[in-house]
Amino acid sequence: MFLMSKIKAEIIKYSKMLNSTKLSALRSGNISVRYKDGFLITPSGKKYSSLKNKDIVFVSSEGRFDKKKGIPSSEWQFHQDVYKNKKEAKAIIHAHSTNATAVSTHKRGIPAFHYMVALAGGHDIKCAKYATFGTRELSKNILKALKGRKACLISNHGQIAFETNLSKAFELAEEVENLSLQYITSLKLGKPKILSVKEMKKVLSKAKNYKRG
Ligand SMILES: [Zn+2]
Repeated sequence: MFLMSKIKAEIIKYSKMLNSTKLSALRSGNISVRYKDGFLITPSGKKYSSLKNKDIVFVSSEGRFDKKKGIPSSEWQFHQDVYKNKKEAKAIIHAHSTNATAVSTHKRGIPAFHYMVALAGGHDIKCAKYATFGTRELSKNILKALKGRKACLISNHGQIAFETNLSKAFELAEEVENLSLQYITSLKLGKPKILSVKEMKKVLSKAKNYKRG
């Protein structure tokens, strides 16, 4: 029980950071952490600033939750599917961050215009095809874009990032947003030079030892 309340408090802390860092404005976005045979997730339609531990909802791996205890975010389904399909995923951040969303509305991902795209796990960051929020179809599209990756854009929607803990997942989502802004800025000057797959392979092998700086 102690562990559960500790995780819930952490989810609330990062939910508030979605707003304070402008990663996801108002009530948009959602956060979850793998817990026992399911996951703990932010609730549907509540302001992050007013969240209490009791508002964080447990959803089982089969997608069951106790309605009397609260309703999970309407987007809980893709959290369930990512945890099911990505054993290494322990925490998920989903955000409607401005720049990632802007790129996603052009049905495009982020190519290797900067070597830092390797942080998402590959030589580019893909964009999942559009489907209505909260549907199994959207989960399928997201999983396809996450093949070999820890983050992707979601067409006409936003971005999703997972990691081995909440702090790392949040940082990855911030990196995706930053890369999106840099990509948009570089497009204003024309067509940016894209790094070769060979160079990105080198970067990816170094990335394991990546330290900030
Ligand atoms: Zn969303």
